[in-house]
Amino acid sequence: MGRYRGERPDQQITLSTRKNTDRFNISKVKESRKPLLSEEDLFNGIRNGNKAVLAQAITLVESSKKSHWERANTLVEKCLAAKTRSIRIGITGVPGVGKSTFIETLGKNLTDRGKKVVVLAVDPTSSRNKGSIMGDKTRMPELSKDARAFVRPSPSGDSLGGVARKTRETIILCEAAGYDIIMVETVGVGQSETAVHGMVDFFLLLKLAGAGDELQGIKRGIIEMADAIVINKADGDNLKRAKLAEVDFKRALQLYPPKENGWIPTVSSCSATENRGIHELWEIIEDYVAKAQKSGHFSIKRKIQNKEWLLQTIEERLKFDFYNHEAIKSQLEVFLSKVAENKISPFRAAEALLELQRRKSV
Ligand code: GDP
Repeated sequence: MGRYRGERPDQQITLSTRKNTDRFNISKVKESRKPLLSEEDLFNGIRNGNKAVLAQAITLVESSKKSHWERANTLVEKCLAAKTRSIRIGITGVPGVGKSTFIETLGKNLTDRGKKVVVLAVDPTSSRNKGSIMGDKTRMPELSKDARAFVRPSPSGDSLGGVARKTRETIILCEAAGYDIIMVETVGVGQSETAVHGMVDFFLLLKLAGAGDELQGIKRGIIEMADAIVINKADGDNLKRAKLAEVDFKRALQLYPPKENGWIPTVSSCSATENRGIHELWEIIEDYVAKAQKSGHFSIKRKIQNKEWLLQTIEERLKFDFYNHEAIKSQLEVFLSKVAENKISPFRAAEALLELQRRKSV
């Protein structure tokens, strides 16, 4: 087992436990050894469309080091001021439905037409040490090589809130870098679909044709969130079933009231492997965007999302400050044991811990 030149032994240990195919992590380690550019240089590099600088800026935004926060905030603020005209699309569906194949095909169609495309992922269960399962470069080989595309795996993080915050900020950086289409993928673990829905303009649900019970087993709320339902793998022997599923979904959707912005969710089918139905879907998205921009709902939705972003940031910060407070760190386990043994009620314990935090922070 060879050591990469110039590496410290601890870095080598991390690398050797990973698969060689996990190229992202290797480059990540190399990247973190580079001296970080100033916010000004990062901003200029981003604006010039330099992918390496963009990657470094995202690493800064994803950093959990407190010393990096202020720098990341400055950078995001600069990028927010840049006028951009992007479309943000959320894509969800169970593993195996064909998300990465679909994103690769749609992404290639778009870059062929001169569009610049980003693929991000929200997967709170992934961690860089284990290797991200979502948005991995190896899952979209063509798009990853494409000069007009930028593919970034899910940020690591224990909490969905943390992952969502990092992804929102990454979107802003990518938009400042001139990307037109931002795709955010999720498998929908826990509340991650809701989180992605809260950061995109258009939300897409990929489905497979089942055995006629299409609406069963579908997560509550997901139909209300979707702006389009697309039945993938509508090819070969599956074509007929896909068309039947399309009819079923259309019928079922009639039971739902139209969305606040007047949009009636569409149902269509596609074959990601054969590149069929993808162009039609893109026309649906363009139609949605045109209508939403005309009615003003496009910017209304983004404003609402910005407000939610603020509230979520506050929640995340409060939690972070609480759990990283020295007094809490030393007392939490003690109180947890007491609560488990009914020696103190959870409410009293919570009060005592919060009081501890209040007292020690003054
Ligand atoms: P993900 O887990 O949702 O990202 O799904 P993948 O994109 O990895 O696809 C899972 C499997 O389904 C792979 O073997 C793909 O080749 C296959 N697949 C994806 N899209 C299609 C399609 O449109 N038609 C058919 N027949 N197979 C597909």
